Amino acid sequence: MHEDEGKQQTYQTPDRTRVMSALQALHARYSSCAAGRLADYIPELAKADPASFAISIVTVRGEVFEVGDHECPFTIQSLSKPFTHALALSDRGREHVMQRVGVEPSGDSFDSIIRLDANNRPHNPMVNAGAIAVTSMIRGGTQSERLGRMLEVFGGTMGRQPEIDQAVFESERATGHRNRAMAHLMLNFGILDRDVENILDLYFKQCSVLVTSRDMATMAATLANAGVNPQTGERAVKREYIRDVLTVMHTCGMYNYAGEWAYTVGLPAKSGVSGGIIAVVPGQFGICVYSPPVDERGNSVRGIRVFEDLSRNSGMHVFETWHQTGQVLNHIDRVTEPSPALPDTTQPVGNATVHKRELDLDDGAEYRR
Ligand code: GLN
Repeated sequence: MHEDEGKQQTYQTPDRTRVMSALQALHARYSSCAAGRLADYIPELAKADPASFAISIVTVRGEVFEVGDHECPFTIQSLSKPFTHALALSDRGREHVMQRVGVEPSGDSFDSIIRLDANNRPHNPMVNAGAIAVTSMIRGGTQSERLGRMLEVFGGTMGRQPEIDQAVFESERATGHRNRAMAHLMLNFGILDRDVENILDLYFKQCSVLVTSRDMATMAATLANAGVNPQTGERAVKREYIRDVLTVMHTCGMYNYAGEWAYTVGLPAKSGVSGGIIAVVPGQFGICVYSPPVDERGNSVRGIRVFEDLSRNSGMHVFETWHQTGQVLNHIDRVTEPSPALPDTTQPVGNATVHKRELDLDDGAEYRR
């Protein structure tokens, strides 16, 4: 039996030297990893530097540990989805949200439209269709009031005033026809009940909020800390909805990789096509890895590798003993070995990548069966 086993759960201040050297080792291990590609279906995202790489941790006590390009700004993209989900829940309540958007993993790509047609409502709020639907639930008499309320949640969870990257917003608005098609389909089904362009405008702005890996780790730490930003002490998310948001992140946050992620990493998480992945270690800390090259599912390649190593060695997985005794950061320097290679299930079938839209032909074939 290990010396810490069986002890009562108390917060132990993490040892800065141990945590920092573990993060530096991980950063060094994966800086040369060249796999993945920049998402270019939103043209502005292709301008990112593929070498940018940051890891940030913020604890529920507000301690910060970070390495690499942690000041590099990037657009939040789908990392915004849990926070908008939280706002929709607090504006409309669980029942209203669940009637219109499910909580089932879709098993499809984040921008799939196929099953939306089959089921009349989006699978969950972590994929685009569901996120557009929950965005439409934000209360406010005018568009700017709704935007203001959304930015207030982002600002509260990150602890500073958020800004929108106008070029990315315009790039998405100009090219986001797939999202536009989903929105019209949902209008047809009555999931959306008002002006589609205004809802999409809000959704595209939400995806274009500029953040750093530190901001994202703070937002994740706010979820880890039952909705209170650990640095400002401000309540930013209602406590009663934290479990809703974390559950949906756990089962759906990594799109069609969610099951494998739950198996190997075992944390509520969310990824975005600009290359960020956040994860929440409830009651302990939030973490963000940023590295723009993504795989065919739209998940950061270095991000996945870093999380796999961390989880395997430090007991971060929700079903591991170290997680349950609250001692993860005190075991983080066990990250001495890379995780063994897992069978590669990320290879696309046919042309199924986020870069090539031929994917839809395969989806269509499946749908017709
Ligand atoms: N803004 C992106 C889109 O709507 C977000 C997708 C993502 O990050 N996976 O396509």
